[in-house]
Amino acid sequence: MTREVSIPNGAEFFEIRFESIGGLGAHVAGKIVASAAVLRMGMNGSHFSSYGSEKKGSVVRSFIRLAPADKAIRTSAPIEEPNVIVVFHSGLLAHPATLSGLKADGVLIYAGQEGDVPEGLSRVPRTATVIRVDAQKIAIAEKSRENAVLIGTLAEAIPLLDRRAVRDALDATFAGKNEAVVTANGRAFDRGADEVEMIENIGQCDGAVPAMSSSPVWGYRTAPIGGVLPTPGNTAHNDLHTSRTGWMPVLDRDKCIDCGMCDMVCPDLCLVWSTHTGEDGKPRVRLDGIDYQYCKGCMRCVETCSTAAMTREAELPGKADELRIPLFPDLRSAAGEKHA
Ligand code: SF4
Ligand code: SF4
Repeated sequence: MTREVSIPNGAEFFEIRFESIGGLGAHVAGKIVASAAVLRMGMNGSHFSSYGSEKKGSVVRSFIRLAPADKAIRTSAPIEEPNVIVVFHSGLLAHPATLSGLKADGVLIYAGQEGDVPEGLSRVPRTATVIRVDAQKIAIAEKSRENAVLIGTLAEAIPLLDRRAVRDALDATFAGKNEAVVTANGRAFDRGADEVEMIENIGQCDGAVPAMSSSPVWGYRTAPIGGVLPTPGNTAHNDLHTSRTGWMPVLDRDKCIDCGMCDMVCPDLCLVWSTHTGEDGKPRVRLDGIDYQYCKGCMRCVETCSTAAMTREAELPGKADELRIPLFPDLRSAAGEKHA
């Protein structure tokens, strides 16, 4: 089937960028939307993603470029001025690069809980459309994934896309492998399409969001001599909270026997210990808690803990701030800022 497709404002392409983190399924979601457009809506399309160095927890961008059937797509450059941006975790809105290049009449879809209206949304164009969907809540309720919810929202919000075709492409991805998953994804998709909130009067930006260049600041001609660390302390200031994808480890002090197994498997060394003198006069170490600034939510500590002192819990707004034990309290006060 070939649909009559007209790209808004006479542009060459209609471009969609997914902003996500490893583990949330942005690449698969982009593939499903692009395949629906090409195989079920008769458009030309291309899809590709860029990843960081790790599978889970690093920034993932997925790009979908669409055009009418008679218009060839001869570029695979990253999409810098998208018509639509889909943000898979509202925490990513804290980074200006997430909204980079959004067109003045663009659409922003973000995954966030009810009442979650991040400050970063003020960078959206006044004339853009902003849509929130609680992808995590729906995905948990339907035993599906956030990506199925978000492509449902996208397919309903964008007139260029045929909702039925995108849903069929989603079904086809798992058909014949696991029918329960097909049904669950379908329910999540439909709820993502229907259970959204339009966020009004939030954008403060006049015109499009300026595009941030994808060219690196340094190249092989201009990079400083090896061994020089131009921003000392950058690791301590790192903030991994957006990597947790809605789940966090929580320590129950009453069940903890301070065995240290969680610390041995934690890849980011974010467990905080203190030393004490025991009743027998011998030195003791005690697990005080987790510095959530550095925790990426891999749950290795939870899987390793033999006493169930460490459990996996949904991350509600403010919970990490409340439970956080700072690894570097002096750094926090010296910097005069809050990192968690
Ligand atoms: S593995 Fe469990 S019991 Fe052992 S120190 Fe960690 S939280 Fe405590
Ligand atoms: S989930 Fe546990 S093991 Fe993983 S980074 Fe956080 S504290 Fe460390």
